[in-house]
Amino acid sequence: MIIATDMPEVSRCAATACAYNTDSACHARAITIGDGEHPDCDTYFNNDGHTKRERVAGVGACKVTDCNHNEDFECSADKIELGCSGDKVNCLTYVH
Ligand code: SF4
Ligand code: SF4
Repeated sequence: MIIATDMPEVSRCAATACAYNTDSACHARAITIGDGEHPDCDTYFNNDGHTKRERVAGVGACKVTDCNHNEDFECSADKIELGCSGDKVNCLTYVH
């Protein structure tokens, strides 16, 4: 079995309440962007505990087809950043 590892890097994420976040960085193995039509993090998980992992997360999938970086339902940017707006976590690299 071959597992793709050439994912765009999640370079920063401001959602410090998320279980995958420590030091304003995401440490999930891979995240999915796209909550309906909005470029929000679909992997966000509000939790008291936080991961102890130190790896850098990748963008595994993106459902935001109108973003200029979206190719065939995946992100083609080198890296992305995420910020908070209300109770949503937005992809700041989204361009349209
Ligand atoms: S990118 Fe998503 S999963 Fe990762 S820390 Fe931010 S909100 Fe959580
Ligand atoms: S930059 Fe565009 S394609 Fe990449 S994750 Fe963000 S919204 Fe999706």
